[in-house]
Parts: sequence; structure tokens; C-alpha cells
Amino acid sequence: MICLGIESTAHTIGLALLTEKKQILSEVKDMYTTTKGGIIPLEAAKHHENIKDKLIKEVIEKSREKRIDLIAYSAGPGLAPCLRVGLKIAKELAEDLKVPLVDVNHIMAHLNSGFLFTEAKNPVFLFTSGANTQIVSLEGKRYRVFGDTIDIGMGNALDKFGREIGLGFPSGPKIEELAKAGKYIELPYTVKGMDLSFSGILTSAINKFKKGVSKEDLCFSIQETFFSMLTEVAERALAHTGKNEALLIGGVAANKRLCEMLGKMCKSRKSKFYAVPLKYSGDNAVMIAYQGILEYKNGRSISIDKADIRPYERIDQIEVFWK
Ligand code: AMP
Ligand code: MG
Repeated sequence: MICLGIESTAHTIGLALLTEKKQILSEVKDMYTTTKGGIIPLEAAKHHENIKDKLIKEVIEKSREKRIDLIAYSAGPGLAPCLRVGLKIAKELAEDLKVPLVDVNHIMAHLNSGFLFTEAKNPVFLFTSGANTQIVSLEGKRYRVFGDTIDIGMGNALDKFGREIGLGFPSGPKIEELAKAGKYIELPYTVKGMDLSFSGILTSAINKFKKGVSKEDLCFSIQETFFSMLTEVAERALAHTGKNEALLIGGVAANKRLCEMLGKMCKSRKSKFYAVPLKYSGDNAVMIAYQGILEYKNGRSISIDKADIRPYERIDQIEVFWK
């Protein structure tokens, strides 16, 4: 079986063809970026709309097998205008090709991509993307969210800070670079139980920038603070669940310093640390195709007329019926 995965929840539009045996036949993607300011949903959707036909053509051309047996798309969570572009592609193709359709949850796909790309078996998931910062563990048939951000996602916090200091979107990689030349200055540290809060730290860092503290020092300190907070909560989640694997997913997983800190913590607990490879840690369509295959093979699909978007769906609302 060959599944076409479609991803369009936010800044990235991507298409990928994946076989049931986890072979990636082809993948294409394009990202909405800005040099100034953050993501504007309608602008991002326009970007996706303008490039989608070219991407559809390319993903098929690049694959040695020209067949598509199943279509999976990201139904949510995400930005509604962007999600609608993916939905439209999925419905049109399913109709044209007369193949089944599966609507998958984007975060579920991120989590399960750990089983596609790493050797992790039963990890505590650390999901740190633009909009999310969740500490998640499978308990019975549900993914349980043990810890969450109480305001904004870690990636968005980094991006907002980057915007304030003139870095453009996405800022995470640029902050990582600048941090290499920085030293520590004190910022608030906000862990509440298992939850994290980033906005107060963000405000404090922005104020310090306005008072003349260097970009480098602030980038270094914001990273050390955010990443220590996540490491602290991750360690507690390992202790609480009794698990001995941690798996880092989401765009912020690209950060080497974060991986280093989590790796050290895991080592000290004799646990294993995994991170989804850089290329697939952020939004991608391969993970959507993989999730689609898992669900379809276990009996789930959706008719074209019922296919829709679910911008606010949470993972703990979904039964993990494919395990
Ligand atoms: P996602 O929403 O999973 O696609 O992840 C996107 C987020 O990851 C954005 O907020 C980026 O700023 C962030 N990001 C990407 N690369 C890095 C990096 N090297 N360090 C920190 N954050 C990053
Ligand atoms: Mg994502």
C-alpha cells in the first residue's frame, strides 16, 4: 500500500508518498517564511494555495511507483485557513483517484513518527513545536498529557523573542546561532507542577533587550532557561511513569543544546534519549502518511463528504486503536 500524506497545518505545506513498509518514495515541501514579523494565517494559506499544484505534480514525478492507494491529510490542530488547503487537496485527489481517505491528527502523527524514525518503544514524549510544548505518555489506550504550556508554545516564544530583536521567522535556528556567543544573565524560571509558562520570561527578556542587554546574552539565557524547564519536567515525567525512554519531537528538537541537556539528564537516569531526526522533527508529510497507514490498516477511513478540518482537536480526545 502506498499512502499520500498531506500536511498544511501552519507554515509548511508538504506532500509525501510512503509505503506500508515505511519506505519514503518521495517527499516535497515548501515553507511560508517572512523576513519580519510572525506567521499570518491567511498569508500562509495563500502561499500553500499558490504552490500546491506544483507540489502535487512533483511528489508523483519523484516517486518510482506512480500509484497512490490511500490519502491521509492533517485535519488539525492548526490554523483553519491553512488546514482548508490540505483538506481541499485531499478531497479532490480522493475523488479523482477513487481511493480511501483518512483524516489524521497532526500531533498524533508527530508522536507516532517517533516509531517511524527512531528505535523508541514506549517513551515519554516531549513535544516542542511552534504552538505546542507537551509532555505526553501513553497510558492504556490514550495519550495522556502530563505537562503542558499554560500560555504559548516554546517555539512561538522563541519566535516572538526573535521578532522583537529583529530576527524574522522562524527565529529558533538564529537564536541557537547567536546563543553560541552569549553568557548567562538571570531570567525568571517558571515551572508550575508539571506545566510550563514562557510568556513572563519572554517579557523579561524583551525588557532587558530594550535596556541594552546584548542579543547574544539574551539568546543564550532564554535557551538555558526554557530548556532547563523542559528538562526538569521531563525528568519528573520519567520518574512518575517509570519509563526509561524519552523522545523529543517537534521543530525545536532541531536545537543541539536542547538535545544535549535532555541527553545528559536521561543518561544520569540510565534512560535512553531519542530525538526524531532534524529533517523530520518539524512539520512534514511523511509522518501524516505513516499515521494514515496505521489508522487505515486498523479499520479507519472517512467518506469524502464527511471529511473536514478540526483546528482545536487535542490528542487526549483520541483513542489509540492501532496499537
Ligand atoms: P514545528 O511547529 O514543529 O514545525 O516547529 C517550528 C518551530 O521550531 C518554530 O517555532 C522554530 O522557531 C522552532 N525551531 C526550529 N529550529 C530550531 C532550533 N534550531 N532551535 C530552536 N527552535 C527551533
Ligand atoms: Mg507541528
